[in-house]
Amino acid sequence: MTTTQTAGWRPSMGEAATRDKPATVSGDYALMLEECLSFELGGHGKCGVDMDEPELAPLAGLPLRQAAPDLPGLTEPETVRHYTRLSRQNYAIDLGPFPLGSCTMKHNPRLNEKVARLPGFADVHPLQPQASVPGALEVIAQLADWLVTLTGMSAVAMSPKAGAHGELCGLLCIRAAIDARGETRDVVLVPESAHGTNPATAAFAGFKVESIPATAAGRVDLDALKAKLGPNVAGVMITNPNTCGLFEPDMKAIADAVHAAGGYVYCDGANFNAVVGKVRPGDLGVDAMHINLHKTFSTPHGGGGPGAGPVVLSEALAPFAPLPFVTRDAQGRIHLVEEETAGEDHPNSFGRMVAFHGQMGMFTRALTYILSHGADGLRQVAEDAVLNANYVLRSLENVLHAPFGDSGPCMHEALFSDRGFAEGFSTLDVAKGLIDEGFHPMTVYFPLVVHGAMLVEPTETESKAGLDRFIASLRSLAERAKAGDVSLHSAPHYAPRRRLDETLAARKPVLVWKGEPAPSGQPSPSEIGDR
Ligand SMILES: *Cc1c(COP(=O)(O)O)cnc(C)c1O
Repeated sequence: MTTTQTAGWRPSMGEAATRDKPATVSGDYALMLEECLSFELGGHGKCGVDMDEPELAPLAGLPLRQAAPDLPGLTEPETVRHYTRLSRQNYAIDLGPFPLGSCTMKHNPRLNEKVARLPGFADVHPLQPQASVPGALEVIAQLADWLVTLTGMSAVAMSPKAGAHGELCGLLCIRAAIDARGETRDVVLVPESAHGTNPATAAFAGFKVESIPATAAGRVDLDALKAKLGPNVAGVMITNPNTCGLFEPDMKAIADAVHAAGGYVYCDGANFNAVVGKVRPGDLGVDAMHINLHKTFSTPHGGGGPGAGPVVLSEALAPFAPLPFVTRDAQGRIHLVEEETAGEDHPNSFGRMVAFHGQMGMFTRALTYILSHGADGLRQVAEDAVLNANYVLRSLENVLHAPFGDSGPCMHEALFSDRGFAEGFSTLDVAKGLIDEGFHPMTVYFPLVVHGAMLVEPTETESKAGLDRFIASLRSLAERAKAGDVSLHSAPHYAPRRRLDETLAARKPVLVWKGEPAPSGQPSPSEIGDR
């Protein structure tokens, strides 16, 4: 591998570099950059900025560093370019559509960012005394009011930090409610098509998981569910709209049956974007539901965080909500109920899940999004999201098999299978091909109930022209997979990396850079990494 120290990056290595690179091109081909570590950019022993020599007085008794640390001495432009080049190796919602089903990757409005950066919000510290943060408490309380109103529920626990964390919160409320009744129910029923977090959460909370089959139309099998209900069932976890992108029309009947058997209904609200402003889960008999603010309410998804997963609760579960808890007193004053005051205000809480109350940055953005849309605007969000998904479904169902295409309109995601692909061609080939077309792949192989599933969620923030481009790309890839175009097997061809071993890349990522020894006697990057 050659290292071009001067420019700060080296020509792309591997297949991308050797592939048809025109002889006239001397630098990086098509801006496929292979970025060095900052340690390899040189400048060791230098300082990138002008600073006076510090006057250091050794601190008595403390060990003193014998040599200067081997930090790269980079100028500001070198540093900025290094990180900007790194950022360009990734795909982002600000670059193009992110059609991941179930994830609701919608545009993050810049108005949200502007509000979140107001110093009164951005600089608030979680250890400030309550009396010094009335504005922050007001934001939390107003957002809580909106979430309770939109869902038709009694209360909301704002502190969980993500959808999966919200599931845990909901199940711990259910466990506390069952304990309070002096019962021991230890089974949670979960449909086959559920997101993996549902059974994982139930198991983590100490329940046994039993699966409920789906009907041929992709819905929960109500009779099979009823047959499983009994004195050992603590509750069900149901996603509505479900992970096949379909509304569960039997939700009320399911909830009634579960309640009659003494259980509770947890609803996975990750797909709330399809029904916000149209359907209130409280009217369907739901007892607890998490809301992923980073999905429905447009706060950024960032590498698994920072998220927020408030959990709305029914009257039956509200008394068990975790601390801290926002309430308004009789005069309308808002305060946080903490352990010290919980005895009077909230005595049955199951306890605390987090150190601090919430993700202020996410709350501010979500409330901004809600207020800038208003109730009518939120309803239109759901309608447009559903319209866009149906446009994708109907535009492609003559080339891709849509397993539930006959079950009527879909909700906000279009689901396809790999049926009809030529022998040896898979959903993975199509997903990798989408990278060459300039799109982030859709969700693949989920839900598990559909063979070679491709779950596309366009969201309401894509224009018709943008959807048409995506549809044209997916159509051409589907045609190639059906025609047996072997070049698809080696896609992506136009990305800095080709086919990675998906399992190894996820389970055994190589995080230590084993590069060449750096010039001029500096420690090599691998030595740096191993130290
Ligand atoms: C995203 C998602 C979750 C988990 O939410 P996180 O915020 O990622 O923890 C759970 N269920 C479904 C259906 C989801 O799409």
